[in-house]
Amino acid sequence: MNALRSWLKQERIAAGNARWAATLRIATLLLISLVLLEAVRRVQASREQQQNRQREQIELLQSLVRQNARPLADWAHWDDVYNFVKGNNPGFPSELMATSALLDGGAVMALFDGRAQPLALEGASSHDRASQSPLQRCLADVVRHRLQSGVERLSVICPSENGPLAGGVQMVTDTEIQRRSDASLAYLVPMLAPARQTSIQSGLRDLNRQLVLTPRPPSETSPLQPVEPQLFTTGGRPLLVREPDAGEEISSELLALAALVAGGLMLSLALRIQWMLNQRRLQLEQRQRERLVTQRLRRTERDFTQLLDQVQVGGEANEARAFARLLGQSAPDLRGAGNDEQRVVRLAERFELVLQTARSLALLDPITDLPNRSYFLERLSWESERSRSQGRPLALLFINIDRFKQINETYGHSTGDAVLKHVADELKQLIGRRDFLARFSGDEFSLILDTEPLECSSEAAIRDHAHQRALALLDGFQSSASQQPEQIKLSLSIGIAISDPSGTTPEELIRRSDTAMVMAKSRSGERVSVFDIESDWDSRNNYRLYNALQSDVSHAPERFCILFQPIVDGRGGYRKVEALCRWHNPEFSDVPADVFFNLAERYRLIQDLGKLIIGQTLNELVLLRQQLGAPDLALALNISPSQLSLEGFGPWLLAQLSEHRIHAETVTVEITESAVVETSVALTDNLNSLRRAGVQLALDDFGTGYSSLRLLMWLKPNELKIDKSFVMAAARDPVALQIVRLLQSLTEQMQLLLVAEGVEDQAMFDLLSQAGLQRYQGYLFSRPLSRADLVATAPAARPRAGSPTA
Ligand code: C2E
Ligand code: CA
Ligand code: CA
Repeated sequence: MNALRSWLKQERIAAGNARWAATLRIATLLLISLVLLEAVRRVQASREQQQNRQREQIELLQSLVRQNARPLADWAHWDDVYNFVKGNNPGFPSELMATSALLDGGAVMALFDGRAQPLALEGASSHDRASQSPLQRCLADVVRHRLQSGVERLSVICPSENGPLAGGVQMVTDTEIQRRSDASLAYLVPMLAPARQTSIQSGLRDLNRQLVLTPRPPSETSPLQPVEPQLFTTGGRPLLVREPDAGEEISSELLALAALVAGGLMLSLALRIQWMLNQRRLQLEQRQRERLVTQRLRRTERDFTQLLDQVQVGGEANEARAFARLLGQSAPDLRGAGNDEQRVVRLAERFELVLQTARSLALLDPITDLPNRSYFLERLSWESERSRSQGRPLALLFINIDRFKQINETYGHSTGDAVLKHVADELKQLIGRRDFLARFSGDEFSLILDTEPLECSSEAAIRDHAHQRALALLDGFQSSASQQPEQIKLSLSIGIAISDPSGTTPEELIRRSDTAMVMAKSRSGERVSVFDIESDWDSRNNYRLYNALQSDVSHAPERFCILFQPIVDGRGGYRKVEALCRWHNPEFSDVPADVFFNLAERYRLIQDLGKLIIGQTLNELVLLRQQLGAPDLALALNISPSQLSLEGFGPWLLAQLSEHRIHAETVTVEITESAVVETSVALTDNLNSLRRAGVQLALDDFGTGYSSLRLLMWLKPNELKIDKSFVMAAARDPVALQIVRLLQSLTEQMQLLLVAEGVEDQAMFDLLSQAGLQRYQGYLFSRPLSRADLVATAPAARPRAGSPTA
């Protein structure tokens, strides 16, 4: 009942949807016209069928008439009739008559004078003999007809209640009779004996109803049609047949059609109900998930609100206590509190707290309860750092469910989810306590092996160990699957990658284990594969790319160009432009910027490429400022990690700026967290010299890496740029949005500017501005544009000159 009610509600909602309603209307119209067409077709078909049946019956009738027609000479009673007419036998004792045998079968016979008056009548029953009986009337009609038409002889079919009678009317040529002028002898014989009550009989009876002995004058609209005449008359007018009556047939056909339509409607209704119920179930599940998230969110929100209240109302001591409670620590010693240093430490602590919460809320995969991709990436970059510093290679396994896509398509997504959960649960049972298992994507799990217990930490030993562990995982999974025979047969493939002793970047390690996994899948019979650098296509391809990049950096600098993307305030006014590089090589069309920058970084090309790009950017900026009439338009410059660690880079950049007459205060250097993971003397010197000259610092891609407290404290940036993936998540996920809000409130207190990257639509912008953000960058405002394009499109939103620090 509930389901029905909810279905009705859904239907009402769906009907409210204009597009849906229009579709429904068109579909109904189509259906009705189809039904009407079908009805017309059926009516016509049943008419035709009826006509065919009538034609068959008539043919049958004709052949029966032929069989029944007999010459009058056959009639043994001939003399008796004469006797009667002559008055020789006024008693007309029928038992003496030779006709009696015939009459037993229901025949009638009569003699008429020249004016069609009956002279003698004979019939099977007294009823037949009565002068007003239908048979007698029929005979009289036929006789009259013979006389009118002047023919000698006429074959007759006479419709009667018990079936048609066939017979004849003939002029009597006996001299005696001739005296009586044009007398007629007529007879009718039932065409079938009553005992032969067959379907022929009933067919004939049907036809009988349609026979009209005396034709009405033909008219245009007459529904009567002639029965082929030659069998029925030797002259004169033909018998007519009423048009077949297909009424019953038609109504039964229409009834069948109606039943068909009703059945179809019921079926589609049933299917729709089933679909709606399914939708409803999914909706409920979704709502339940949302409710859980909201609950968690409320709890965090409540904790944070409480905290912020206490911070605002209670002063230093309360604040410290509140934070300590939330962090589960004992309250810090407040002696000496109050100076700026302490305040920054406390604010930074709040940051840490927000980030911790963000992690616990946003880093678990809801289906499998395993760490999700971002959590895994974070863990992996931490583990690779550790592995590099300890000189112990890292083992990464990529585990993939075979034929998962097929399972998903065959059994549906909820089964797919159940399979993921099942595999995750099984794997959790099979891994060690200190291994790190995560759901990487769709049907891929990633596993960082704990290799610390191994005595030997050589690459070969770790490779061997990882291989053994992978085989053991497969065996364990298979044997538990075989204990549950009713389940869908599942199998796994595993790819293994071991980091190089010199260190392999996390991204490269992922790519390698993914490649190995694909290998494992493609080689039949082998479900574990270890990455082999020799046969790696991608690294060879990278090598080609690297060659092209190196050659273009040295010989074709014009293949690199600079685009500018505005960073705007809440009203869309330009506050800054970020310089983004593009590389146009004819052999590799449009290589993404982060790809070739990573390559340059990895293969030590970055120094030359970086200098080339900075030179071009500054030239372009000078022109842009002139053309826009905005001499202080601020610039954001991306600086690669290794560039920043080059000795003398800071002074070099400052010299470049002054050469181009660009004030250092109007430039922001954007660096990613990875740039400052390893602090070196050169890096610190560079940062210090830039900062001293007034260059601004922005921490780019915030939210994707460690986002660590210490880093923030050490770098003391002026800006945080929230990475576009996080911004996009905030548009979908209330938890991520809440984190953005908290970040905004904390950055405000730390006097940091929070910039949102990747703002693609108005809804996203609305959410962010409600959260209090003041700087935005993204396709909603402008894509990265060449100087000329920017100048052409900028006039309406002329940059606000003189706001260099914004
Ligand atoms: P980034 O510094 O985070 O740059 C922002 C990236 O986001 C740019 O990609 C930009 O085109 C893109 N973007 C901007 N708005 C939107 C949006 O609304 N939606 C989406 N989906 N994307 C948006 P791009 O230009 O491909 O650059 C990618 C990365 O390459 C940059 O990330 C930066 O790390 C690096 N890069 C680009 N140019 C330079 C450069 O001149 N020097 C250095 N060192 N790195 C650069
Ligand atoms: Ca950037
Ligand atoms: Ca970024």
